[in-house]
Order: sequence, then C-alpha cells, then structure tokens
Amino acid sequence: MIHNKTIALIAHDARKADMIQWVTHNAELLLQNHLVCTGTTGGLIEKALEEIVGNLYQSKLTKMLSGPMGGDAQIAAMVVEGKIDLCVFFIDDLTANPHEADIQMLLRQCRLHNIPVACNRHSADLMITSSLWSTEYEPMSPTYKAFKR
Ligand code: PGA
Repeated sequence: MIHNKTIALIAHDARKADMIQWVTHNAELLLQNHLVCTGTTGGLIEKALEEIVGNLYQSKLTKMLSGPMGGDAQIAAMVVEGKIDLCVFFIDDLTANPHEADIQMLLRQCRLHNIPVACNRHSADLMITSSLWSTEYEPMSPTYKAFKR
C-alpha cells in the first residue's frame, strides 16, 4: 500500500465533489502520506479530513496557490524536482480553463518524469492500491537519448 509518499491532489471546480468523495473514502490510506494540493482543492480537502481526524491532518497537507494563479505550475515544478510520487488530477473535460497551458504543463512533466498520474477515480483507485508501492520496485527511467544530460 502507498505509504510515506508525496501525493499531489488537484481537482477542477466541476470535479471537486468527486475529489472530496474520493479523499473521504481513502482518508486512512492518504493520511499515511504527504498531500500537496492546489489552493481551493486543498481547502476543501482540509475540511473533509478535519471531520475525519480533527487537526491531525495538518502536518500531512501542503496547499499551493490556486490552480489558475499558478498552483498547477508549482506542482509541476515539484514533479521536475523529483518531489512528487503520484499525481491525482481530476480534470474537467467539459469546460475550458484559463490556465490550460499550466494544466498541460503539469501533465507533460508527469509523463516526462515517469510520475503516475490519475485523471479519473478508477485510475486513482488502481494507483493508490497498487502493491508495487510496498516492494523494492524501481520504475525504469524513460530513455530520451537525444535530450539526456
Ligand atoms: P484549485 O485549482 O484547487 O485552486 O481550484 C485547481 C486547478 O484549477 O488546477
């Protein structure tokens, strides 16, 4: 089971209810990890976790800026720096976003740096319950020969 990892949690407005339901359902497991969230998503997750464990969630959750103000970009930078182990990003695929460039950047950096990224609940359920988290499994690095320094 996933343990002592850093998990990024981001949800667009139309997907925030889904995210809160998912976090509530998986609170026990998620709280064994460090959570990094975009601002508004993080505020809602804080409230949901507080109802479950009181203020014990506090050391487990970091809020970045709101997504449209650069929160996704901050999390993308953490991905680049090797500070994120898993990204759960519930994207609203039915609405255009002003920060589409940042969203695509975050997804691209996850792909590029071989970070698992779940954009729907089914993927997120499969990823957090993977038994690979508790083995010696080392993900193989992608080989971008032309650009590797
Ligand atoms: P928010 O950002 O959690 O601050 O709403 C999410 C996003 O739009 O990327």
